[in-house]
Amino acid sequence: MKPFLLKKLVPIPKIENHKIAVFIGPHPDDIEIACGATIAKLKRLGVQVHFIIITDGQGGSTDEMLIEDVLISARSQEAMDGATVLGVDSIENLNYPDGGIYEINDVAHNLVERLVVLKPDIVFSPDPHLPSEIHPDHLMAGQAATLAVYISQYPSVMKIHHIDYDIKQYHSVQSTLAYYYTHRPNQRVTVSPLDCQLANQAILKHQSQFQDSSPAWKALNQYLWLRRHRLGGLFHRMAEGYRVLGPIHQHCFPEINDY
Ligand code: ZN
Repeated sequence: MKPFLLKKLVPIPKIENHKIAVFIGPHPDDIEIACGATIAKLKRLGVQVHFIIITDGQGGSTDEMLIEDVLISARSQEAMDGATVLGVDSIENLNYPDGGIYEINDVAHNLVERLVVLKPDIVFSPDPHLPSEIHPDHLMAGQAATLAVYISQYPSVMKIHHIDYDIKQYHSVQSTLAYYYTHRPNQRVTVSPLDCQLANQAILKHQSQFQDSSPAWKALNQYLWLRRHRLGGLFHRMAEGYRVLGPIHQHCFPEINDY
């Protein structure tokens, strides 16, 4: 039986009601692909939006002749251009190597140091529990973000993790978690055709990955159109889907899985 009363008493926070959003991306293009239209909408509503990208994206090419540094610097510029299209307030790349050869704790500590400064009330990351996902960067980004949201709630845990914490300067942070690339969305953000257009323009700034007339872009564009309409529920409405956990749902609250 669904916990209707509990859902009414302890509802999932609505994404659009937050004020400061941090989007954590495994690679330079994931945030726009998964959440571009939502970001366009949030910016329209006056929400502060920050991007933190974990890896440098050096695995994003099958061209063996391409010099790694050239690709890394191209992808860094593309990420900035994509963020500019969406009106994002800040963007930072932690520059871990693409391909999962790093420690989740280390990434989480880096994220905590940024979260206590940015003080987001909502943090977006890939769903670390997506059963079909095989890319380690996607799974690890979700795990690191989840761990960072937990650690940043407690100065005592920051101390245990040996994270420098200036209690006079920073506050602990209580953030809603919103997982994208999820198979079990519990909240949909309705987006307009203009939001989707801006998202697509931002994705196309990632020229090393998608060119306007390329088969890769045609396939992605078609998939995004279908996904947004499927999540919109009605043929003429579009949405992006998230698995949202408010601060109160993040510990010892198994009923959220039946919401
Ligand atoms: Zn990716």
